[in-house]
Amino acid sequence: MTNLLIDKVAVITGGASGIGQATVEAFVDNGAKVVIGDIQDDLGKALADKLGDSAVYVHADVTDETDVENLVATAVKTYGKLDVMFNNAGAPSAPAPITEFSVEYLDKALSLFVRSVALGHKYSARQFKSQGTGGSIISTSSLAGLQGGWGDIGYSSAKAAVLGIARVATVELGKFGIRSNVIAPGIIMTPIFTRYAGLSEEDSEKFLARLEELTQDEQPLGRTGVPADIAGPALFLASDLSAFVSGVTIPVDGGSSSVTFNTFDQKFGEVAAELEAGWVSARN
Ligand code: NAP
Repeated sequence: MTNLLIDKVAVITGGASGIGQATVEAFVDNGAKVVIGDIQDDLGKALADKLGDSAVYVHADVTDETDVENLVATAVKTYGKLDVMFNNAGAPSAPAPITEFSVEYLDKALSLFVRSVALGHKYSARQFKSQGTGGSIISTSSLAGLQGGWGDIGYSSAKAAVLGIARVATVELGKFGIRSNVIAPGIIMTPIFTRYAGLSEEDSEKFLARLEELTQDEQPLGRTGVPADIAGPALFLASDLSAFVSGVTIPVDGGSSSVTFNTFDQKFGEVAAELEAGWVSARN
């Protein structure tokens, strides 16, 4: 254990799985108390139980304003204050070409990735202002929010909007000591790739293995990302080490954002077709 977040209280959405889970564990390991928000109740409760007094789990759909408000209220009620808000929850959407997408599909993507991040800013910043302590807001975008070729219209446009929210927050809230920064992950091996793909367990494993191979070709550092790769930069942005950093986006992508042309989307589609992945819509 190190002490980067001693006496800090954080809310982490999507904290029951993947990137969120690794960040919950890293924050607690560094002395923080954490409110885990997610819709996967069994996983979230099990994680909180494992972490004892350092974490509580709250069912929270991040597209629901009352649920987001309640996450912040739970941090204050349980641990007395809030210092860090990590807007991270997300789910894949069934890929939709520009010529085919439905309004419902687009609204769903914007609600899951933009409304949620905006609400996270609204309620955490209110709390930070009333405490008079400042605070750190971190939001998960994606390489798809920075470049084409990593996602479709709904996902990419929503993830790009996350950067806009952080810039607005930086300008509006800086005078209160409130910082807002963004992490843009590259390809990180988490259940997000298979949970909604309608694949058998065996085919899910094959799918992840193929994805790993193709990522090794596409990401300059030559390996696939793991959730802990994101937890490290999140720890930096949450801690006082980044006290003078606001409004920035950190790509955490094995160097992929330095590559000017990639064929990830095309190859991803080929692997999915080969394994007959029949995408079903994500919950949100
Ligand atoms: P993950 O392992 O699936 O974790 C995401 C968690 O968020 C899941 O527990 C998911 O539950 C939950 N969630 C979904 N919709 C929610 C909602 N409305 N309210 C609250 N929780 C909700 O995926 P991950 O890869 O760690 O993704 C975390 C974030 O990183 C997402 O914003 C994702 O877009 C972003 N990201 C991931 C990658 C990558 O390569 N993995 C790359 C770039 C960006 P369900 O499973 O039930 O939906």
